[in-house]
Amino acid sequence: MVKEYLENINIKETNSLLVSLKSYALLNDVPIITDDGISFIKQMINIKQIKSILEIGTAIGYSSINMAINSDAVITTIERDKAMFNRAIGNINLAKLQSRIKVINEDALEIDETMLGKFDLIFIDAAKAQSIKFFNKFKTCLNDNGLIITDNLTFHDLVVTPIRDKNLKQLVRKIDAFNKFVVDQTDFDTYIYSIGDGMSLSIKKDVIKWKSR
Ligand code: SAH
Ligand code: MG
Repeated sequence: MVKEYLENINIKETNSLLVSLKSYALLNDVPIITDDGISFIKQMINIKQIKSILEIGTAIGYSSINMAINSDAVITTIERDKAMFNRAIGNINLAKLQSRIKVINEDALEIDETMLGKFDLIFIDAAKAQSIKFFNKFKTCLNDNGLIITDNLTFHDLVVTPIRDKNLKQLVRKIDAFNKFVVDQTDFDTYIYSIGDGMSLSIKKDVIKWKSR
């Protein structure tokens, strides 16, 4: 109810490519980020003057194109699915953002992260059962005071819903484990917000300031 109320008041997206990607995603069950989720990220990018972004989970390129259009950041995004990868490349070309968005067609868990460089923001939005692995692996690519944002942490409210299906239950357990893990990372200041499908914001602590406390 409140979500709908706010959706009606907030300014709607007008960029025609983003609007068409959104309706494509809806029609084809591609799980793209919600309006409030992407707005939260865009405002963080703006406030923190973020210049480089690593995204895990490209899908059709909706979130990366959206972040690129609304900033001057360069983005590296990783997608393991070939069909999704191809679609993302097509969409990024349509947006004429090839020079600022690089898509890598690989499994993020198999990639050599030391080759990727350093980033001001890491957006984790891939296989939901693997978020702890992604976090531990890619935090080494984060600049000092950088941000890690992870999506889908309340997973269509399933974290608070009784579930019978064994696989789904297992998946939700892993999301719950990630949530407990992420708030526990002492080198990050983390809070999980009820934005979109549940989103954590983890700010890497300044090592020197933090140690002197
Ligand atoms: N960030 C996108 C949505 C991503 S959906 C947006 O908001 O617009 C999640 C995507 O992650 C899927 O396309 C899936 O194929 C991809 N994915 C899942 N596990 C992955 C992995 N281990 N490595 C790379 N991509 C992965
Ligand atoms: Mg997501």
